[in-house]
Amino acid sequence: MTLTPLQELAKSLHNCQRCKLAKLGRSQVVFGVGNPHASIMFVGEAPGANEDLKGEPFVGAAGKILNDLLASANLSRDQIYIANVIKCRPPDNRDPEPDEVDTCKPFLMQQIQMIRPKLVCTLGNWATQTLLERKVGITKVKAQAFYMKDFVLFPLLHPAAALHQGNLLDTLKEDFKKLKEFLDRNTKPTETTSTASPAAPTLQIDPPQPAQMDLFG
Ligand code: URA
Repeated sequence: MTLTPLQELAKSLHNCQRCKLAKLGRSQVVFGVGNPHASIMFVGEAPGANEDLKGEPFVGAAGKILNDLLASANLSRDQIYIANVIKCRPPDNRDPEPDEVDTCKPFLMQQIQMIRPKLVCTLGNWATQTLLERKVGITKVKAQAFYMKDFVLFPLLHPAAALHQGNLLDTLKEDFKKLKEFLDRNTKPTETTSTASPAAPTLQIDPPQPAQMDLFG
């Protein structure tokens, strides 16, 4: 059976030994899951303990919150693709280190190139800064569209933030409402001839407003 480029990439990372996380207690590489033709992709930071055991991103407590938030925006996990910047669990869920990011980020970029999502929603400060390539606080940039070269970036708070600080759940809900409004404004009716999953929204994103250009001054 011939593999798709995305499947080839997953296979090439199976049992990856390129950085020190391979020897720091990870049990498997968590590549990513979902619709390989998705027009919307979500990107988290790194697998936690549950993800490491199951081999899938966002299957623990934060994943449950994410599922509810996705449903509130009329999205289901089989319509989207979810991956992390870092594919292996850092010990004790510590932040990924620069050499680990340098090693793993190119694989996320390849996933994005192969899936070709129109919209990439980063979850949390860390994934947002990694893809925006700017040290900017998530509270300043969340729930807004940033027009990158090949996709639109839509940063969101990390769902785990609501586990630590209950009141942030309301903020997350409001921000997913803004995501839904953005999707509604930029979704055209599904074409029956589309090769994508019939349930997947067909995003057609308008060019940026002039004000967008100045967001970083
Ligand atoms: N947090 C993340 O950033 N990614 C996961 O997959 C799980 C928790």
